[in-house]
Amino acid sequence: MNIHEYQARELFHKFGVASPGGKSASTPEEAEQIAAQLGVTQIVVKAQIHAGGRGKGVFKNGFKGGVHLCHTPAEVRHLAEQMLGQVLVTNQTGPEGRLVSKLLVAEAVDISRELYFALLFDRAISAPMIIASTEGGMDIEAVAEHTPEKIIRVPVDPLLGLQPYQTRKIAAALGLRGSLMTQATKLFTALYKTYTETDCTLVEVNPLVVTPDNRLLALDAKFNFDDNALYRQPAVVAMRDKAEEDPREVAASEFNLNYIGLDGNIACLVNGAGLAMATMDIIQHFGGKPANFLDVGGGATKEQVSAAFKIILGDKSVQGILVNIFGGIMDCDVIAHGIVDAARETGLSLPLVVRLEGNNVEAGKRTLANSSISLQSATTMAEGAQKIVAAVHAA
Ligand code: GDP
Ligand code: MG
Repeated sequence: MNIHEYQARELFHKFGVASPGGKSASTPEEAEQIAAQLGVTQIVVKAQIHAGGRGKGVFKNGFKGGVHLCHTPAEVRHLAEQMLGQVLVTNQTGPEGRLVSKLLVAEAVDISRELYFALLFDRAISAPMIIASTEGGMDIEAVAEHTPEKIIRVPVDPLLGLQPYQTRKIAAALGLRGSLMTQATKLFTALYKTYTETDCTLVEVNPLVVTPDNRLLALDAKFNFDDNALYRQPAVVAMRDKAEEDPREVAASEFNLNYIGLDGNIACLVNGAGLAMATMDIIQHFGGKPANFLDVGGGATKEQVSAAFKIILGDKSVQGILVNIFGGIMDCDVIAHGIVDAARETGLSLPLVVRLEGNNVEAGKRTLANSSISLQSATTMAEGAQKIVAAVHAA
């Protein structure tokens, strides 16, 4: 799960990470009011979307830039009128872009240096890793590629936590001395606390800035949270913005289904992640393209199967469906009833191939045969994949 920058700044405030604050606005009037309340002469207005590269982004209405500096509440209102309700395209959004429905209005700070600081979970070492660089504000991937020596990496022992000598080492490598080193130690420690206590997998601050009056501030922030830990993070869940997520994935998560939308045209409904991967592979092998990854889990109910079917059918690019179930714990007849219900409710007209195997398979096959639904059955995975690819080609 991700959050917006204005929410990230709220978290920073809560954990004592120095940042300029600010508030979110959904209308030009609100943006103007917030700017007036700030009572400052330098204001920054930032589009709130779950993607970076906003500064260099372009709106579909032609307006340039998702991050703007200005001086008066009236200017803020004018900027908000150009940005709110518009679609912003950045190098991270893909060509379809993202709808901007909120802005962050905050005091703009003067910047003398832009640094990079990130904390992320490094699977290779099974521990948090700090990545920092003097080259902040820009594309860190490009820095890593062209000048890898400018990237500092410091692994953190998860049992000991971030040690003061490590924060000093990073601060020194970033050229932060004197009072800035003291501030850096405090800020890095507070960020580490934010990271561990809210179950993050990534906190990326780009840029982390030094101001001309020698203050160190987190100016931009990207957070990723571990979805498996959300059950114990109600405050994080409350920040979820479903409008930023793939609607198919939101619907799937409501039914506890593991769904990932892809760009092919053959939908798969499978139980078990390994079988789902193998099913996508075999569709590709026989010349088709999967429209999704969908794992209904080991013990899916009739309602979940039915919901899964509706999510699949909600995807306009789907031209055929392959159901591939191996009933270990799963009762094949439950799946069969789910398919029948969903096909009836949705008036299914697309080619459907079903391969059932395992627990109570005979009952499942009878349920399908006795229903009036038009489908082809298959005995092996290869046969199922070949049949659905042929049916979609013929359609
Ligand atoms: P991103 O483009 O989505 O990564 O958005 P950022 O929050 O990183 O903003 C892009 C750039 O705008 C930053 O790298 C800064 O150079 C500039 N910027 C953002 N906020 C401020 C601010 O408060 N003051 C000044 N002077 N520049 C800012
Ligand atoms: Mg940035």
